[in-house]
Amino acid sequence: SVKNDTRGGYSFYTARMESTFSQHLDLEMGLRRALTNHEFAIHYQPQFDAQGQTVCGVEALLRWQHPERGLLYPGDFIPLAEEVGLIGHMTEWVIDTTVRQMKAWVDAGIAPPRMAINLSALDLKRSSLVGEITQALERHQLPGERIELEITENLIVQDINIATQRLTELARHGISIAIDDFGTGYSSLSYLHQLPIHTLKIDRSFVQDIVPERTGRSVIDAIIAMGHSLELTIVAEGVETELQKDWLAQKRCHGMQGYLFSRPLPTEAVTHLLEAAISRNVDVTVQAESR
Ligand code: C2E
Ligand code: MG
Ligand code: MG
Ligand code: MG
Repeated sequence: SVKNDTRGGYSFYTARMESTFSQHLDLEMGLRRALTNHEFAIHYQPQFDAQGQTVCGVEALLRWQHPERGLLYPGDFIPLAEEVGLIGHMTEWVIDTTVRQMKAWVDAGIAPPRMAINLSALDLKRSSLVGEITQALERHQLPGERIELEITENLIVQDINIATQRLTELARHGISIAIDDFGTGYSSLSYLHQLPIHTLKIDRSFVQDIVPERTGRSVIDAIIAMGHSLELTIVAEGVETELQKDWLAQKRCHGMQGYLFSRPLPTEAVTHLLEAAISRNVDVTVQAESR
């Protein structure tokens, strides 16, 4: 009957809500324990020059090796970490870990020019952020020039004054700033000359539009042209095909990142790749993520 259907639908709905709620709680408690239990890891994705020969950087990407659920990606837990106020602690850990790793690569003589670190929208609001970064640099004796911070347009536009203040201070320490996922956010292009920006990272969605059919290339074409005229370094993310690579190289895109070149790799594997790249032997087999 109609009544039963309704009741059935209702109880099904509450059961689902309850399980979502308790999953959420589990995840939150798990997040709280993850830092002390050393469950976080960084995977590093190399960025290559337009010829695909030289490693011009690595991007640090956070992973959570969950004891029951396996490897979790930022999309699975960063929104929750932001919501429950844990993101600051996680960012501090990411900064300390990546700066220490970069220093180890510098000491080993295999460091790429730069390490890119992603910041969350909430990080820039924290007044302690600049101190956390500069103290990590000091602690590990790494020059700021080795670090690039990736932030999104939305983050800048939300509070342009705070963004200007923090980013200018960071730039004074030699740290460079990249605009991540460029072209997808709320874009008020006026910030581009107001802020010390070094790099534009073209969002994967535009790179995916580079297909044999030749449609949909005009937006990415315009972004690259703008990047050149502002004298910014242009990095394309999510490069998956030779066609995309060749087209981007022909447009004088400076850096490329994507599965065509390498997936994000655990520390040991990316260290091997960097060693091999230094000795000009990029033909190594490495253990990569598969998803
Ligand atoms: P993002 O900074 O735009 O990073 C690029 C994402 O694209 C990464 O996903 C990377 O694994 C993936 N990717 C790289 N090459 C390819 C490709 O050729 N094809 C496809 N389909 N994907 C590719 P991931 O690691 O899941 O990270 C997602 C987002 O999470 C990042 O986007 C970044 O915004 C955020 N994130 C990552 N690490 C951190 C962190 O330490 N802190 C904060 N606050 N956010 C982070
Ligand atoms: Mg990024
Ligand atoms: Mg990106
Ligand atoms: Mg992106």
